[in-house]
Amino acid sequence: MKKQKTYLDYAATTPLDSRILKTMLLYLKDKYGNPSSIHSFGQEAAQAVDKARIQVAKFLNCKPSEIVFTGSASESDNLAIRGLVKKGDHIITTKIEHKAVLETCKDLKSEGIKVTYLSVNKEGLIDIKDLEKSIRPNTKLVSIMYANNETGVVQPIKKIKKLIKNIYFHTDAVQAGNWLNCNVNDLGVDLLTLSAHKIYGPKGVGILYMRQGTSIKPIITGGDHEWGLRAGTENVAGIVGMGEAVDRIMNHESRIMKIEKLRDKLVKEALKIPGSKLNGPLNLKDRLPNIANFSFEGVEGEGLVIALDQEAIAVSTGSACASKKLKPSHVLKAMGLSELEAHSSLRVSLGKHTTSKDIDYFLKALPKVIKRLRKISGR
Ligand code: PLP
Repeated sequence: MKKQKTYLDYAATTPLDSRILKTMLLYLKDKYGNPSSIHSFGQEAAQAVDKARIQVAKFLNCKPSEIVFTGSASESDNLAIRGLVKKGDHIITTKIEHKAVLETCKDLKSEGIKVTYLSVNKEGLIDIKDLEKSIRPNTKLVSIMYANNETGVVQPIKKIKKLIKNIYFHTDAVQAGNWLNCNVNDLGVDLLTLSAHKIYGPKGVGILYMRQGTSIKPIITGGDHEWGLRAGTENVAGIVGMGEAVDRIMNHESRIMKIEKLRDKLVKEALKIPGSKLNGPLNLKDRLPNIANFSFEGVEGEGLVIALDQEAIAVSTGSACASKKLKPSHVLKAMGLSELEAHSSLRVSLGKHTTSKDIDYFLKALPKVIKRLRKISGR
C-alpha cells in the first residue's frame, strides 16, 4: 500500500492557517514596535493588539476589556484558578479535566484550598446531582471543561450554570472553540479559556475571558500589560494570529457537517475490527464532531501510534502532553476503563483539512496494523 501522509491529530494541534501566518509575518518583521511605546511604531503594534481583542470579543460576545491575552491555554487555566481563589476557598472540578486544571488544583491544596473532583459516568459525563451535592458555603469556583480533549465528550455547561448560580464558573473551552457555541452570555460562564494553536492559529498564545467585575490577581507580576493581569511585552504577532484564527471559525456549520460525516464513517468502520470499543458517549451528538477514542483489545496504544506512524499516519493515545509517559489516561480511568483498556486506547481527531481519502487510508491501514501487533504479542 502506497504511504499517504495522514494527519489525524487535530486535538493535539492544528496547522497554522497560511493566511494567518501571512498577517502574523507583518508583525514579526516590519511592524515590530512594542505596544507600550508611544511612538508610531509602538502605536501600530498596539492597534493590532486592540484589533485582535475586538475579534476575540466578537467571537465570545463580550467586551474587549474582558479579554486577557496569555502565553497558552495552560496559563489561562492557571490564571483563572490561581487568580481567583484564596486560602479557605473551595473549588469544584472534575476528574477528567486537562492537567492544566488538575495539577493547578492539586498544587493549591497545599495552600489551604479544598478541592472536590466530580466523577463521571462511563460515557464521561458528570452527574449534575453530584455537582449540586458538592456545593458548600465556601465554594468559590466551579471549573468544568466544555469538551474533553481525549474523548470529545461535551459537558452540559448551561445546566451547570443554572445550578451554581452565583458561584464563579470557569470553563476550559480549548477543544470546543472550533465546533461549539462559545457565546459567553449564552453559556453563562465567568471565565473561559481558549488556545490559538487548536484553532489554526499559532502556538504559545491563549486567552482568558473574564466577566467584568470578576476580581482576579495576576500570576505573572511586573508591568501593567493586559489590565495589570499578565505582565510581559505582548506577543504581538501571536495575538494577531489569535484574532485572525477566531475570525475564521465564525461560520462553521457546513464544516461541522462534513467532519461529522467523516467521523461517523470512521467510527462505524473501526468498530468492525474484532475486539474494538468506542470510548465516550454512544450518542455521537454528545461529543465533539471531530474526536473518536477507541480501545483495541490486546494492543498497546503507544505501540499502535508508532506502528501507524510508520504508515505515515499521525494519531495519539491519551492527550499529547501525557503521551510521552506510559501512564494510562486519567480520563479513561475516570470513565471506569480498566488499566488494560485505557492502555489500549487510540484517539483519532479530525480537522478542517481532513478528507475522505484520509479516512479511507486510515481505515485500510488500521486493521492490518492491529492484526500485526496482535500477532507479535501472541494474541
Ligand atoms: N486544555 C485543553 C482541554 C487542551 O486540550 C489543551 C491542550 O492540549 C490545553 C488546555 C493546553 O493548551 P496549551 O497548549 O495552549 O497550553
